[in-house]
Amino acid sequence: MDFGYERLLDRAWENLPSHLKTPIRFEMPQADTLIEGNTTIIRNFGDVASRLRREPDHIMKFLFKELAAPGVRDGNRVIMQRVLKQSVINKKFEDYAKEFVLCHECGKPDTGISELEGVRIIKCEACGGWWPMRRIK
Ligand SMILES: [Zn+2]
Repeated sequence: MDFGYERLLDRAWENLPSHLKTPIRFEMPQADTLIEGNTTIIRNFGDVASRLRREPDHIMKFLFKELAAPGVRDGNRVIMQRVLKQSVINKKFEDYAKEFVLCHECGKPDTGISELEGVRIIKCEACGGWWPMRRIK
């Protein structure tokens, strides 16, 4: 993946007038992975997390649990102690987005985490819909 190009796109996006920014559909961020020995390195994990607008730690917890493999964070990268196909990791990012990011009512990505009577919920800014946030054990 060419980061220079990505950055240019980001800058172009920032300079757009706000009325043009309403997203038409959610672009799933794609993992950029590299296999090294018995490990898989997700080289753009930090970027994926910021695109999903969720805590990197929470996404990591989900990923490690779902893929039954431990891992560590190293700056923008995550190194997992297992050989994993890029498509498998992308599928997990997609599952994460479906459960924790994309609105269960209207499908839009404009959601945030808040609290309702001591329970963490995910609330949609677009339609007002919400659902309880599952705790990852
Ligand atoms: Zn919604």
